[in-house]
Amino acid sequence: MDAFTAKSPIASHLRRRKYELVRHFGLPEGLVGGCLCQTHRRCGKPNCHCAVGPGHPLWSITFSRNGHRRVERVPSAFLSEIQRAVVHTHAFLDAIKELMTINLDLLAHTRRNHLQKKVRRRQKNVRFDATNDQLFPAPIDPLPM
Ligand SMILES: [Zn+2]
Repeated sequence: MDAFTAKSPIASHLRRRKYELVRHFGLPEGLVGGCLCQTHRRCGKPNCHCAVGPGHPLWSITFSRNGHRRVERVPSAFLSEIQRAVVHTHAFLDAIKELMTINLDLLAHTRRNHLQKKVRRRQKNVRFDATNDQLFPAPIDPLPM
């Protein structure tokens, strides 16, 4: 992960917090959010080929932080790494959403199971109340003679 190897006190502080989160939640460490997109920019040099064309290709990530739209330029040296990270991050977020949905489905099935058990227990109790001779059903003889 070359894109995240900055050296400075702030970078060290950010990395410390990053690995706290990675360890605590078992997260993949290379997650990168936002939208990776290509734009073109003219460098301004009058005799550069970009003066007539669409400009030099420029990659950046658009994301929002605290409700504000931010754009972070992606140097070409890190482009393939960041591209892979963004694709992986989307897959990871999709997996989290799917897992949350699955757990809710499982909760619904578990609740239904409990309800069925309760109904079955109530039906048994009604039967025993009617005969009024035992609290528990008699064990079933596995080999009736
Ligand atoms: Zn140019």
